[in-house]
Amino acid sequence: MDLPDYAIEATGLFKTYPASKTAPAMDALKGVDLKIPRGSIFGLLGPNGAGKSTFINILSGLTKKTRGQVKIWGRDIDTQARDARAAIGVVPQEIAADPFFTPRESLEVQAGLYGVPAAERRSDQLLAALGLADKSKAYVRQLSGGMKRRLMVAKAMVHNPPVLILDEPTAGVDVELRRQLWNYVVELNRQGVTIVLTTHYLEEAEQLCDTIAIVNRGQVVACEPTSQLLRRLDSRTVVVTPETPLAEAPSLKPFEARLRPGGDLAVDFKTAEAGVEQVLAAVRAAGVHIKDLRTEDPDLEDVFVSMTYGLEATATD
Ligand code: ADP
Repeated sequence: MDLPDYAIEATGLFKTYPASKTAPAMDALKGVDLKIPRGSIFGLLGPNGAGKSTFINILSGLTKKTRGQVKIWGRDIDTQARDARAAIGVVPQEIAADPFFTPRESLEVQAGLYGVPAAERRSDQLLAALGLADKSKAYVRQLSGGMKRRLMVAKAMVHNPPVLILDEPTAGVDVELRRQLWNYVVELNRQGVTIVLTTHYLEEAEQLCDTIAIVNRGQVVACEPTSQLLRRLDSRTVVVTPETPLAEAPSLKPFEARLRPGGDLAVDFKTAEAGVEQVLAAVRAAGVHIKDLRTEDPDLEDVFVSMTYGLEATATD
């Protein structure tokens, strides 16, 4: 079969969780269209509750979609379920390592589940690649959280899938291990594996992903190359504590200044258009003496919301 253009293709995907005794029905996905190009490191970014895990769980077969079409590596998850599942490895959000197996046994069992013949298993190679070679015979319950997570990554790769999905891969992973994990992910990508990762940290998506889709409230509100997306998120804020309290925010043309509760003065600027120096010059020119200052990145929550409103506005145009 020819290689597909898209590792994953979702069209008109809906998911409604039925009402329970404690909660009303929940529309977790509301018409998601998403094309994940083959060969990319693709970030699915969105706040908690956006629908990221629901999307991933539909791909892995843990959750049934309500409606819509999904293809994994060109294979329809309804009509070619087995082939579709064989094409992805999923590293789940929760660590579910079997405490009674050693990491090596754990990989062998997983390979068995996927029907990988013994001669084609790569358990030792995977353990080495993830820095677990010296733990191959330890009990899983003796591993640290970061090691368990890396074991989950190894497990997801036993059947050598062309697509690897990581759901919040670095939650609870310390800086050093995170770097190791990323190196491995990047190396896999170099070898041709398409990587999809979900995160609610822009920084993580920014550093790793070539393409980012932003999901909010069950909808894709942006999907574009990382650099293009970052240009749209380029606003920053300078926050100044004045020497003496200000009665009101001064006019700082061309900047917009707001007085915050507590007396700090917040000034937004576009990094493409101005620098901190220019903002400070405007503050000083307005006669404000600066006691202290800091800069702030945009609050992602605000960005998600503003993009969602943008979408709603276009939808009604
Ligand atoms: P994310 O991964 O982006 O944090 P989720 O896909 O976990 O988002 O959740 C999307 C929405 O669906 C949330 O409002 C969540 O409470 C709801 N949800 C998720 N799983 C279930 C479930 N099994 N039953 C009912 N509601 C659920």
